[in-house]
Amino acid sequence: MKSIVCSIVPLLFAATINAQITDPVATEVWEPEPRHITFNEDEVPSDAIVLFDGTNADAWQHGDGSAVKWNVSDGTMTVVRGTGPIFTKENFGDCQLHVEWSAPTEIVGEGQGRGNSGVFLQNKYEVQVLDSYNNRTYSNGQAGSIYKQSMPLVNAMKAPGEWQKYDIIFKAPRFNADGIKVASGTITVLHNGVVIQNHYELKGTTPFIGLPQNPAHGDGPIQLQDHGNPVKYRNIWIREL
Ligand code: MG
Repeated sequence: MKSIVCSIVPLLFAATINAQITDPVATEVWEPEPRHITFNEDEVPSDAIVLFDGTNADAWQHGDGSAVKWNVSDGTMTVVRGTGPIFTKENFGDCQLHVEWSAPTEIVGEGQGRGNSGVFLQNKYEVQVLDSYNNRTYSNGQAGSIYKQSMPLVNAMKAPGEWQKYDIIFKAPRFNADGIKVASGTITVLHNGVVIQNHYELKGTTPFIGLPQNPAHGDGPIQLQDHGNPVKYRNIWIREL
């Protein structure tokens, strides 16, 4: 009974207040004013942090803090097998992340062995990078999947060697002081401008083996995965939200 009263009273109150508002100006909000940023489609917005502009990998490091051993040349950064994943030096939480990548033109392997890499938010949640152009694998492991959790809504792949764009909007999960998750993270992904993950609610981490886990954590680095395939990256930027 108490809960019914608790839920109805605010509604009645809101309805009463609403009936008293007759001036449209009363519901206009003027402050604060969203600041103006500059942008040009296909260019980096003025308020973005550039993580890779083609000149150097200074924003990144390997897990042991050493300088990036991936191959930076011709405005791109290519995975060098066995050197390991790379991580942004800076940690991030809620963000908009833009990443361009290209699968190897020399077709080697199949399924998960072809053009495999990955973009990890907070070093824990993988948006799969894979050559999914005429290359069948499990659906929740193909390009644009939230690895082993959520298959992409469609396959928006271009051919190997062409540049693919990921635009990722990420809201980090929240944990309380006891380390209990109190709000799930969410991910929206556009692949080449097409929505393939629509505000997906993360179940937890994205392990290769086993079920999602929910360890409490704060901000973390963006990770790009070394999965042994020479995937290329370029034009990486992030906007903190
Ligand atoms: Mg991967």
